[in-house]
Order: sequence, then structure tokens, then C-alpha cells
Amino acid sequence: MIHVSSQFDSGNIEVVAADSPDAVRLRIAKDGAADFFQWFHFRVSGARGVPLTLIIENAGSSSYPKGWEGYRAVASTDRQDWRRVETGYDGTALTIRHTPDADAVWFAYFAPYSLDRHDDLVARAQARGTARLERLGATLDGRDLDMLTFGSGPKPLWVIARQHPGESMCGWFMDGLVDRLCDPYDPVARALMAQATLRVVPNMNPDGVFRGHLRTNAKGANLNREWREPSLENSPEVFHTIRRMEATGVAMCLDVHGDEALPYNFIAGYEGIPDPSEAHLARLTRYKDELARLTPDFQTEHGYPKPAPGKGNLTTSTGYIASTFRCAAMTLEMPFKDTANNPMPEVGWSPDRSRRLAGHCLEAMLLMIDDWEAGL
Ligand SMILES: [Zn+2]
Repeated sequence: MIHVSSQFDSGNIEVVAADSPDAVRLRIAKDGAADFFQWFHFRVSGARGVPLTLIIENAGSSSYPKGWEGYRAVASTDRQDWRRVETGYDGTALTIRHTPDADAVWFAYFAPYSLDRHDDLVARAQARGTARLERLGATLDGRDLDMLTFGSGPKPLWVIARQHPGESMCGWFMDGLVDRLCDPYDPVARALMAQATLRVVPNMNPDGVFRGHLRTNAKGANLNREWREPSLENSPEVFHTIRRMEATGVAMCLDVHGDEALPYNFIAGYEGIPDPSEAHLARLTRYKDELARLTPDFQTEHGYPKPAPGKGNLTTSTGYIASTFRCAAMTLEMPFKDTANNPMPEVGWSPDRSRRLAGHCLEAMLLMIDDWEAGL
């Protein structure tokens, strides 16, 4: 007899019926107080050698149904190594077929980066002695909102991630970013830390991550629409981060995300803020170009349509920071699927690739260190 469970850190699924392994009927639960859903993460026990057919019945009505086209789920038996498994989508249901070689197997939308891993990351960073760990405030569930500070140079640079908790590749990205900054022999990290102070919020939404949400915090707020009017009642995560940014200033901010549908890494910028200057926009163009030169995993051809000046969304971190501090503020999007321009079918876009991209983002930041400034 198999059993499906998701009552664990960042787990999410509803079981309709699991009595027959060749037709396990599942539904993705929505984000508590909001209607978003797409993130799934569950364990199947008692499945060694059993051909499983897992049917996610409500996939077609999820937040981003285009995300299922050309998509394959990931599975792991050791929760370290996640492989893509056979997955089909008929416009309504997502069907995963897999025969595990162990008693328990975990399935997920993307390799999970649970809250426990985040705690390990900040502990590791402070243990290595390179970073300072600061608690910006409390989340609605009473969790710690953590910031790591690296270096003591004059340029205030920020990297934030995981406003949308289901975008777990952002956890892996931050894992790679922090490890690189913690490496005392890394020349890029050393030069960056001499010329800049990097403030890193690896997990903007710990409540959403733990609860297994796709897009919102404990109260159902989409944090990346809260930047104009954050409140302690609905979005303390953003409220506390902005207060800290006001104190430190911001010369550049990278906000790290994942996109369900597009099979590319790309950056969405701030073309839509009111009256962007040429000098301001030049930073955006150059950063994207430098990154594309540094890694074939990044590209500048595919992405979101660019809004006209004054037509952009100023409730996002990027829109708010670029228009408030008049500095470069960018949204990095990674795929859930794979990079169509540089594919690796066995793993698709993966934890390791996300970690390496973070290193290239740091390299591009260093190449442009003289460009980062506010008031553009
Ligand atoms: Zn996002």
C-alpha cells in the first residue's frame, strides 16, 4: 500500500485517492488565503519498484497553466539529487509516471529549497566568519527575516530573493551566491567586498516557503506587489526591508525570481518607471550584456515585453527601487523548465545551474562596480 504525504517543511499536495498506484489522484492546494497555486512537493511511501502514475487533476486551472507545457517534474530518493521524470500534460491534468528504486520518493515542481535549508545557509555563512547576520524583523507567523551583510566598501548593493516562495530555484541561487561570497580565496568576492557592502536577503518569504505556497505570505499577500505601500499587518517582510534600504541607500538591487512558462534566464528591468534617464537605463543594458557574455545560460533575446516609460508597475521591488533610489534595480527570472538556448535535458534548469548563475551575477556586478550609483 502506498501513502502520499506533504505535512513537512515546504510540502504541498491534496490527496483525492491513493488506493491504486496506477492512478493516484492528486490536487495542488492553493496558497492558504489566496487563490494562487502551482507549487507541489510531496512524498510517496511504500513505492519501491511500483510503477506509479500520479495525476494532478487541477493542473489546468493553476496560476500559470502554460508552465506545464514542455515541463517535467523532479523526483529524488535522497533529497539531494533531483532528476526529471516522465511527465505529460493534456490541458487539464498533469500526469507523472515513475517507478522508484527506494521505499520513499519525493516529487516536486522544482528541487525544493526548504526553510530548514535556509536556516543552514545563514548559519553556515556566519560560521565561516565572512558575513554578519542581522534580523530585519518578524514575519506574520513570527519567523525571523534574515539579512546577511558582506564586505565594507562604499557601494550599497542589495540582492533579495524568494518573495515568491514557490520559486525554489531562487533558494539555490542564493545558496551559490552566499557560498561564493564566503570563500576567502575567491578573487571576485574579495574585490566586491572591498568596493561594496553587499546586503543579501536570501529568503524574503519564510512563512510562504514553510507553508508550501506558490506566491504569497501567511496572509495571502503577494509581496512583489506590496512595495509601494507595505504594512506591518499584511507585508512586514517588505516593510522591514524597505526601512533597512532607506538607512543604507541602494546603488543596485537584484531581485531573484523564477518564471513558470518561459524556458530562459532573463532580466526584467525598469524601463517603465516615469522618465528614466539614458544613463539610468544604460546600467540595465550593460548588466544584461555582461551577464550574457559571462554565461551561455543567460540570454537577452527572450523575456517580458518592456513597458513604456511611466507605464511600468511601481508596486514591484524593481519598479519601486528603481524609481525611488534612481539606481539599477533588476528582476532576474530563472526557468522552472530548462534553458531552451542551452538545454540539459537530464536535469533541466537545476540547483547546480542556479548556484553557478549566481556566481556569474557577482562577476558582472564587479565588472560594473563603478557604474552602481543612486540618483541617476
Ligand atoms: Zn516571482
